Formats: sequence, C-alpha cells, structure tokens
Amino acid sequence: MFENIIKFIRQLYGSNGTIPLHEPRFIGNEKKYLNQCIDSTYVSYVGEFVTRFEDIIKEYTGAKYAIATANGTLALHAALLLAGVKNNDEVLTQALTFVATANAITYCGAKPIFIDSDRETLGMSPVKLEEFLKNETIIKDDGFCYNKQTGNKISACVPVHIFGHPVKIEHIKSICGKYNITLVEDAAESLGSFYKEKHTGIFGKIGILSFNGNKLITTGGGGMIITDDENIARQAKHITTTAKVSHKWEFFHDEVGYNYRMPNVNAAIGCAQMESLPKYLDNKRETAALYKVFFNELGISFLVEPEGCGSNYWLNAIILKDRVQRDEFLEYCNNNRVMSRPIWTLMNKLPMYQHCQHINLENAQWLEDRVVNIPSSVRV
Ligand SMILES: *Cc1c(COP(=O)(O)O)cnc(C)c1O
Repeated sequence: MFENIIKFIRQLYGSNGTIPLHEPRFIGNEKKYLNQCIDSTYVSYVGEFVTRFEDIIKEYTGAKYAIATANGTLALHAALLLAGVKNNDEVLTQALTFVATANAITYCGAKPIFIDSDRETLGMSPVKLEEFLKNETIIKDDGFCYNKQTGNKISACVPVHIFGHPVKIEHIKSICGKYNITLVEDAAESLGSFYKEKHTGIFGKIGILSFNGNKLITTGGGGMIITDDENIARQAKHITTTAKVSHKWEFFHDEVGYNYRMPNVNAAIGCAQMESLPKYLDNKRETAALYKVFFNELGISFLVEPEGCGSNYWLNAIILKDRVQRDEFLEYCNNNRVMSRPIWTLMNKLPMYQHCQHINLENAQWLEDRVVNIPSSVRV
C-alpha cells in the first residue's frame, strides 16, 4: 500500500528525485521587486514595499490594520503583549500546535494552559475549552477570569488554525466573550483560509500571520499582526519599532520597545508572492482534491476543510490507523525520498512545558498518534 502512495505522489509532482514537504515557488515579480528595493537603497524596515505589503494584506484579509514583523513568532509575542498579557498571567492554547505558539506566551512571562483538540478541525476544541473554564476558573469582582488552582489571571486564549483548516472560531469567540478572555488568533498557517466567508485571523482582537519559507507564501522570514482596533494597531507599530517617538532628529523612546519590524527586502518578496496567491490557492485545492479521491479509494482518511470553511490546504494530512502504522509510513516515505512528517509532539511533553497545566488531551493524543503530512508544495 505504501508503495502505491509513493508512486501516486511521484506522479503528482512529476519527479523521481526528492520530494519536499513544502517548498516555496518564485514564479512572479520577486526578482524585479528585489532589484527595485536594492536600487532604492531602502533595504531595512523603512521603505515602500513594507507599506505596500501591509496594504495588500489588509485588503486581502479584510482587517482594518496590518503591521509587518520580522517573523510570525515575534508577531505573536507583540500581539499577546498588546492583548494585555502580563507577567504571571496564564494563557489558554492547544497542546497540539507548533512550539512557537507556546513560546510566544512564555516570552510574556505568562504560562500556557493546554486545551484538547477537535478531531474535525485539528484545532482547539470549544467544548473542551468551555469545560475547563466552567470547572477550573472563577470570575472575580474585577470581571476577569482566574484559575482556581493557581489564583492567576487567565488573560488570553490563542487557538490555532492548523495546516490552514479553520478552527470553530465563532464558538471559541463566544466562550472567550463570556469569560472576558481576550481572543488572539494564531493564523500563521492560514493565509487564504476563510471561516464562513471571513478570513481567519480577524475574529479575535488580534491575529497573526507567518511568511516563513515553508508557509503558503513567503518573505524569507516574516509575520504580520492584523487587527480592527486602531489603538492596538498604533501601539503595534510603536513597540515593534523600538518605541521611538516620531521626530525629525531626536531619539526619544517612551517604553521598552522591540526591533521586530519586517525589512523592506522581505516585504518586496511578499508583494510579489501575494500576486501569485490566487494561483497558489487554486493549485493547492486541486492537489487536495486529487489526494482525497486517491486516499478514499485506499480507505485512508484524508483531512478536508471543515464544513462552511474554505481552507488554503497549506499542508495536506492523512490520518493513519495507529502509531505503529504512522511510524512505518514515515520510515518508508522518508527512506524513499518522499518527505512526510508527523504532526507535532504535544506541548505538554516538551521539557519546558511538561509542568504546565493541561486538561484531558484524548483527542490531541489520538491525533498525535495518527496524523502525518504529505508533500503539499504548489505544483508547477
Ligand atoms: C509558523 C508558525 C508560527 C511562527 O511563525 P514564524 O514566522 O516561523 O516565526 C507560529 N505558529 C504556528 C502555528 C506556525 O505554524
């Protein structure tokens, strides 16, 4: 069976060589814009392409404001600070996510609490989230939600749209509203993914995107903070540019800021990549449809977009029988130079997060044992 899978993937990508999991494509104006950027001498974070890239993302996502950052992890760190996450606070997120989500929470001096996943979306389970909040927290007189066990404030909730598949964001949003917890969306993987016609990342107070080399489009390294809140947008720009107060010559910084802005060279690539985005999305949708038919015939479950959602199908995933079959599959594919990867190890198993609170993680564990990604690059 594995042999047939390899054969199919090789056919799909028309290659007998190594097939990577997700490689970037530069088929548009990338070199042209890079040359313009270099000729302008504005290669750092002042420059036309940064503003242009922010405008393009605003328009595409429907967010009122977009602030470009050096990568997605830093965008999330800044977003959490702006969401009001303080030292010793606690932040709800998923056990099954990329480590950057938990790291950004930790950079704020806060502790993550790991919630279980939803098997349909792979993202945070709203049912499990509400169960935790109902049983383990209280709303104090100040109107905020506190962890009964630790006495600490739970200031934010960070669901993740895994592999581009939108989480049940409306349900999660309504629960966060009920408990007065700020919703911050990790939409790092979901540029081009829509939940009921609305782009992912704009449901929460703040959302973030990533343009790392392995994401759907890339700027080399890059991220974006998106929000509808004017005040947060202004502060986002301020703290990501060393909190410098604008002045013709004076250096005055009014708080501890960060050097988190996206350089103009990276934004130049991003502007070109965004021109190709519609093509990429069509291409990936077609690949996913072919995979789906193929795996259905084999009786292997292929992950599809949740109902009512439009997924970007960033990374295609299949769900195998159990962990034994998963490991056999990974071994076979990688030995045959077709890259496949398991979904991440649950955060609560990593040394730095094993002491963090988590609820029953039966779905996350079930998924960890079975989900693997298969080659998903845009086909040329
Ligand atoms: C890629 C990713 C990030 C971080 O983005 P970088 O640009 O690589 O820093 C954060 N969260 C998730 C879920 C990601 O996949």
